[in-house]
Amino acid sequence: STPVATFCALLRAARTGLLIKGGDVLESLASIKVAAFDKTGTITRGEFSVEEFQTVGERVSKQQLVYWVSSIESRSSHPMASALVGYAQSNSVEPKSENVAEFQIYPGEGIYGEIDGEGVYVGNKRILARASCQTDIVEHMKGVTIGYVACNKELIGVFSLSDSCRTGAAEAIKELRSLGIKSVMLTGDSTAAATYAQNQLGNILAEVHSELLPEDKVRIVDELKAGDGPTLMIGDGMNDAPALAKADVGVSMGVSGSAVAMETSHITLMSNDIRRIPKAIKLARRTHRTIV
Ligand code: ADP
Ligand code: MG
Repeated sequence: STPVATFCALLRAARTGLLIKGGDVLESLASIKVAAFDKTGTITRGEFSVEEFQTVGERVSKQQLVYWVSSIESRSSHPMASALVGYAQSNSVEPKSENVAEFQIYPGEGIYGEIDGEGVYVGNKRILARASCQTDIVEHMKGVTIGYVACNKELIGVFSLSDSCRTGAAEAIKELRSLGIKSVMLTGDSTAAATYAQNQLGNILAEVHSELLPEDKVRIVDELKAGDGPTLMIGDGMNDAPALAKADVGVSMGVSGSAVAMETSHITLMSNDIRRIPKAIKLARRTHRTIV
């Protein structure tokens, strides 16, 4: 009756929108001690709104800056991209992805593309280093993600975006805590944006790690495994994929997540409701008890 119990549990989970790829995953799920959450698109909705959009210096007009940024972003599937494309359209600028050449993604940093004969970088502080841009950055905006645009080693634009936590995120983390599971945040976003999300949640995360590259997420998952025990990682982006693979249980967001995150994960959440995770852990623990 062991396989039957497992099968029934997998089926029940699937009915609530949780695709668990095998009975051994269910077993790992039963012993989880730590849950590591990506921020953007996982704890938060990943539905950004553009707060500010400014040129820096005289290099380009605002119109041209919006055109460049939105055209290059239209090649990206990052949650920030659709907000920037939408912003352009609502300002009567039509992004043209077909005019972008040499498009590149730098996970945890931003993107690059050539447009109108110019190489343009869009992303966070790290992308400025990649663009050999020396500008000193003063971060004056609180609780938001700040984006920079660089061209010819020059800062030519800056914008800010805000996002909000998903319904049920705080509830899910509290539920995990009642199951004896510690929750932490691992984000590529700025410390200001990470702290803002932690405050929105009521400061219930045990640890917040920000400004991480994909390999930093992997390293921290490894440290959590060694220090606290079996670790679950949940994320949506291609930047989360290596950490999802490293975790004892990797969970991807199925609605808005990237394909590579789904491929490397053990579980796909077909709804965006992260309260399904503590529920699945309870189910796994019950099933495991039935088996042993
Ligand atoms: P998280 O770990 O919170 O999901 P990511 O690793 O996806 O965040 O992204 C980290 C940071 O890299 C973002 O906060 C943003 O500053 C920058 N970034 C990534 N992709 C893009 C993009 N397409 N356009 C602009 N900035 C980007
Ligand atoms: Mg993410």
